[in-house]
Amino acid sequence: MIEIRENIEKDSGHFLPGLLVKTLNSIAQNSMSEETFLETVIDSNFFDLRILEYINSSRISKFASLKEAVNELGAVYCSFVLMNIIIYDISGTHGNEESGKLFEMQLFSASASYIIAKHAGIDCPQLAYAGGLLSNISYFYLSTRFESEFKDLVNKDRNLIKRMNYEWETFGIDHAEISSLILTAAGFPQEIVAPVTHHHQKNFQEHIGSGRITDLSLAVYFGSMMTVMFYEDFNSASDLRREIKNFMNLSSFQLEAAFEEIIELFKNASFSLGLNALTFPGHFKLISWFDTQLSVLRSELEMCEKKISELNFQNVKFQKAFEENNKKLVGLALKDPLTGAYNRRYLDEKIHDEFLKAKRYGQSFTVISADIDHFKKINDSYGHAFGDVVLIKLVQIIKSSIRKTDFIARTGGEEFIIVCHSSNELGGIIIAEKMRKIIESSSFRFEGKDVPVTMSFGVANFFPEVKSAEELIRISDERLYAAKNAGRNKVIYK
Ligand code: GH3
Ligand code: MG
Ligand code: MG
Repeated sequence: MIEIRENIEKDSGHFLPGLLVKTLNSIAQNSMSEETFLETVIDSNFFDLRILEYINSSRISKFASLKEAVNELGAVYCSFVLMNIIIYDISGTHGNEESGKLFEMQLFSASASYIIAKHAGIDCPQLAYAGGLLSNISYFYLSTRFESEFKDLVNKDRNLIKRMNYEWETFGIDHAEISSLILTAAGFPQEIVAPVTHHHQKNFQEHIGSGRITDLSLAVYFGSMMTVMFYEDFNSASDLRREIKNFMNLSSFQLEAAFEEIIELFKNASFSLGLNALTFPGHFKLISWFDTQLSVLRSELEMCEKKISELNFQNVKFQKAFEENNKKLVGLALKDPLTGAYNRRYLDEKIHDEFLKAKRYGQSFTVISADIDHFKKINDSYGHAFGDVVLIKLVQIIKSSIRKTDFIARTGGEEFIIVCHSSNELGGIIIAEKMRKIIESSSFRFEGKDVPVTMSFGVANFFPEVKSAEELIRISDERLYAAKNAGRNKVIYK
C-alpha cells in the first residue's frame, strides 16, 4: 500500500497555488473586496490577463481592463473565473482525454453544488462551487504523482464504488480523503475542506448538526450525487431528485428550472475555458430518462383507456341484458302463464287508455266478452289437462284472428275479453263472428276422437254516452250472458 499522506505533506504548497488559497480564504471570511482581489491577482503569472480573456470570451459586453470587469461583475464572480482557470491548468486537461473527462465532471459538480446551495439559501454559495470543483482534486494530484496508479484507476469501468474500492486497496484511503488532505495541507478553509471530505457521505452531515459548513457539505454532496447520476449511474435519479427537491424546498417545476440553470452555468464555464468537445452524457441521459418515464405513463394511460372501453362494453351488454330481463319481468307480470293471454291488470290499464282516446279523439273501439261453452263438462269428461290444452289452443286461434293492435286478456278460468282497437260496431261483430266460426270448425282431438268446442260472445262498441270502460265491459258481459241464454255458440251485439 502506498503511504500517500507523507507524499501530500511533502508536496504541500507546490500543488495548489497560494493565489487560490488566499482568494478562497477571503471569500470564506467574507472579506473579499474588489481591491483585495485585484491586489492578489495583479502580477500573478498572467492570471489577470487570463481572467479578462475568459470574461471577454463569455460575455456580450467586453471589458478593456480587469479593473473594469471586477468593478462591474464583482470580486466573487471573478474569483470563480480564477478558480476555473487554475483547476483547469492543474487538471492537465490539455492533451489528456482521461483528465479532460474528470475536469468536465468537476466543472459540472461545481455548477450543480453552486445552484443547489443558491436555491437552498446558503450563505455564500460560491464556497459550494469551490467544494464541487475541488472535491476530486486528488485525481489531478494522482495523475501527476502516481501516474500508473492513476491509469489503473481510470481504466476501471467508471463506477464510483469500484473506483473507491481500488483507492482503499491502493492508498488505504479514498479520493475524498486524499482531496481533503491536499486542501488541508495547502491551507484551505474548513468551509471547503469539510464538504470535500464528505462529498460522498450523506450521513456525516446529519451528525455534525446545522450551520454553514453542514449546509455547504450537503450542497456539495448533492452536487456530487448529481454528477454521478449524470455521468455514471442513472438508476438513482428519481430518489435523488426527491431528496434535492426537499433540501432545496422546491416544486418539481422549480427543480426543472434549477436543472436548466446548472446546465447553463456548466456550459458557459466550459465554453469560456475552450472546452468544446464535452462528453456530458447527462443531458441525453436525462432526456432519455424523462422519455422512459413518459412512455411508462403513456402505456399506463393506454391500459386505463382499454380498461375503460372494456368496462363500457360490459356496461352496454349489462344494460341490454337488464332491459331484456325487465321486458321478461314485465311480460310475466302482465301475462297469464298458461295461455300467454294478457291478464286483468293489463286489460284494466289498456282499456282505460282506449277509453280516453275514444272520448278525446272520437276513436271508437270494441269490447268482446268470450266464454267457453260447457267447459265444466269438457273438464269432467276428458280431464283437466285436456281442458288446459283447449284453453291454450283457443287463445292461439283468437290471437290469429285479431289484428296486431288488438289483444286478448284472460279474465277468469275460461272467460276472456278481447279489445279491438279503432273498430266500429260492424267491425266488432264481424271479428266476433269470425272467431266463433273458426272455433266451431276447429278440431280438438282427444284420444282419436273429435271433441266439439264452442264459445259464446258478447260485443259492445264504444258510444259517446258511456261513462267508463268498466261500463262497456259490463254491457259486453250482459250480452255474453244473453248469448248463453240464447243457446250458446252465438254472438250477441244488442
Ligand atoms: P257455460 O257454458 O255456462 O259457460 O258452462 P261452463 O261449464 O263453461 O261454466 P262454469 O262456469 O260452470 O264452469 C267453468 C269451468 O272451467 C269450471 C272449471 O273447472 C273450469 N276451469 C276454470 N279454469 C280452468 C283451468 O285453468 N283449466 C281447466 N282445465 N279448467 C278450468
Ligand atoms: Mg263457460
Ligand atoms: Mg264461465
